[in-house]
Amino acid sequence: MQYQNGHHTVYPIIFQEQYGSLSSINCFLYDNGSTLTLIDAGLDTPQFNEFFQQQLKQYKLSIQDIDQIFLTHHHDDHTGQVNQILSQKQVQVYAHHLAILRLLFEEQYLTNKYNFFVKIYGEYGCLDISADRFKKMEKTFLNRENLKLNTEVIPLHHGDIINEMYIIEAPGHSPDSIIFSEQPVRWQFSGDLLLENAPTNALIDFDEKLELLPTVSQYRESLLKLNALEAEWIFPGHEKIFQNHNLEIDNKLKKMDRKEQRIIDAVRNGNNKTVEIARAIYGKKVETQTFFVLSEVIGYLEYAIGRGKLAKEMRDGEWFFQPVYP
Ligand SMILES: [Zn+2]
Repeated sequence: MQYQNGHHTVYPIIFQEQYGSLSSINCFLYDNGSTLTLIDAGLDTPQFNEFFQQQLKQYKLSIQDIDQIFLTHHHDDHTGQVNQILSQKQVQVYAHHLAILRLLFEEQYLTNKYNFFVKIYGEYGCLDISADRFKKMEKTFLNRENLKLNTEVIPLHHGDIINEMYIIEAPGHSPDSIIFSEQPVRWQFSGDLLLENAPTNALIDFDEKLELLPTVSQYRESLLKLNALEAEWIFPGHEKIFQNHNLEIDNKLKKMDRKEQRIIDAVRNGNNKTVEIARAIYGKKVETQTFFVLSEVIGYLEYAIGRGKLAKEMRDGEWFFQPVYP
């Protein structure tokens, strides 16, 4: 099904496949009447590629019709087909300025990332359970030439406008997350910021000074930004295209409050170290989904500290957490 408003059309490409806890990977062909933009580019798998080609055909479009590519963020379920497309047609690729190092898998960036996680996981006492994460990063480093986008990426900044598309920074899920906001028709291409009835998280990341970003509070602010936008349709990175984003955001904010409370309760119950707190809340998932669980726990610990509800203290190089009672 395509979405039409005046001379604006969206051709959704919804690849239905179980992906973690999600049930689809989405990208969108967007025609504003003069330019055909691919917003996000799915996975780099033969199955996704086949589906992508088949969807183009069904819409009576081809790779040659694509004029440019916009990326909502750098994650690999949003960039998969970019090199494939570039091998057939040289089009310009746009992404947030912080996405560029990540999309090009620059050596210095990958080294910084590795060192950042050594430092952070050390301070939060979770190096032992994170061996797989480091193995994965080593593998990525060795494979960087194959993973990188084969083009220069044009940097986008908050407030930029391309045609009538407004660029709105929405960090939290990743530091480089963008909402592409098509103002005249109130269509919001919001990547993984808000999914209908499905989880999406603030993931641990770092800034230029290699400091931990306040991802949960960033995420909350980004949700409030989206909340303030009028939307006829939300075109998300996963799950269904939806309306009533204010209601979804309301639910999401309440869920965030509950998550914060769970962390505070775990600390009040006598768990003082990150991994203890993680096990108290997530049980075995600490082993099976270590990166996601640690992103949640470290993110919400820092969030609660920022809101004056917890305190932390460094002992022998590791953070210990205490409740703060009002
Ligand atoms: Zn995604």
